[in-house]
Amino acid sequence: MNMKRTIFPLRSLLLALTCASALASPKPNVILIFADDLGYGDLGCYGAEKIRTPQLDRMADEGVRFTDFYVAAEVCTPSRAALLTGRYPLRSGMCGDIERVLFANSKGGLPPAEITIAEALRGAGYATMHIGKWHLGIHEGSRPLDQGFEHSFGLPYSNDMDPRPGLPKGATSSPTPPADGWNVALMRDGKIIEQPADQTTLTKRYTEEAVKFIGEHKTQPFFLYLAHTFPHVPLFASADFKGKSKAGIYGDTVEELDWSVGQILETLRKEKLEQNTLVVFTSDNGPWLIMGEAGGSAGPLRDGKGSTWDGGMRVPCVAWMPGRIKPAVSSQMVQAMDWFPTALSLAEVKLPEGVVLDGVNLSPLLLENQPLAERPYFFYRGPHLFACRLGPWKAHFFTQGAYGGPAKQSHEPPLLYHLGNDPGEKNNVAADQPEVLEQIKSAVSAHQAKMVAGPKQLKSTKP
Ligand code: MG
Repeated sequence: MNMKRTIFPLRSLLLALTCASALASPKPNVILIFADDLGYGDLGCYGAEKIRTPQLDRMADEGVRFTDFYVAAEVCTPSRAALLTGRYPLRSGMCGDIERVLFANSKGGLPPAEITIAEALRGAGYATMHIGKWHLGIHEGSRPLDQGFEHSFGLPYSNDMDPRPGLPKGATSSPTPPADGWNVALMRDGKIIEQPADQTTLTKRYTEEAVKFIGEHKTQPFFLYLAHTFPHVPLFASADFKGKSKAGIYGDTVEELDWSVGQILETLRKEKLEQNTLVVFTSDNGPWLIMGEAGGSAGPLRDGKGSTWDGGMRVPCVAWMPGRIKPAVSSQMVQAMDWFPTALSLAEVKLPEGVVLDGVNLSPLLLENQPLAERPYFFYRGPHLFACRLGPWKAHFFTQGAYGGPAKQSHEPPLLYHLGNDPGEKNNVAADQPEVLEQIKSAVSAHQAKMVAGPKQLKSTKP
């Protein structure tokens, strides 16, 4: 009896101590939410007037809203490869200028040797899940479960790929696309569970999966990569959102994404995980302007998806972690490849050895408001370096129409714009700034001298 009395409090004490130490330094969770083809001007907090995004606006009020955030490519596949690996797509071979993205019949994919955020965090005990569009390869070695994700739920590639034979012209960009027009499959853990996928309920089902995953991992750190299918065309919204926005079906899908973000943040609050979860919301590239009303808006920026003008690669980005990240609007130049070292730093995971990374750890900026050192950023179209930003300056060595004309043009001297004064890249000031151009040229030379291109996964011309 006495023994029991003695042992029981001792056990409780040990248990309490174990819990206390676990509570003192729980590894933070990481959620990356990636919209598809959402433009710089498509959220309320970025100036949209016809699309209501109260949840994302609140997230921005409570977190850091970046005004100068860039993705690593102007189209889907390379942008996703860069986000998950922290490397310019040229390094993994996941870019091309003949085939700019992977298609349903492409042979390539993210090479198995590439280390994704999921792989790095899973090695540190994180639960990992991919939800939504993958678009990094359908063959062995490249699929979500091959690249560090324990679970996967979503589409293997874009929702407009694998169109039904005889699909009427213009169906893809139609405000009322046929629900059975595309044969893309919904997959769970590598197996087809529905084909064609019912696209009208995708956002809802992705959200349900995300909420369930969070609820199941209250005590284990997790990494969730939620890559939404929309607002990539063809556009579908559920009955609760269809016809409800002032911006047509495009606005409906964005408003449903906004609802989805609200559900996820609310779940984190309910589970008391909000102060220990970094949530990042961003987009894979700019708006697909050639889709007309079914494409979004780059706001004040020039051009859109497919282009190395800012509208193609500068997108909304909000980072949220209440109590850890102080509310702010940041004009620091940050980019998608920064999330790899940032996530690993928060998780106290060492960076992989022998891997060239192209991002920096944003934790000092996010958690302590320390400004970043100035660094150049390089704008690639496929394997070719088209432009470079340094400070407020952006120089274009080449320009080309996003889709179709104008053809590729080279510029010597490069076109030069001051993005602070001229975010729409209208006034070329190259003639007045020879020193800035020299600085940018030497940054490009240094970058290119060290660049090692990976084996090509997409058809492309030589770098
Ligand atoms: Mg995209």
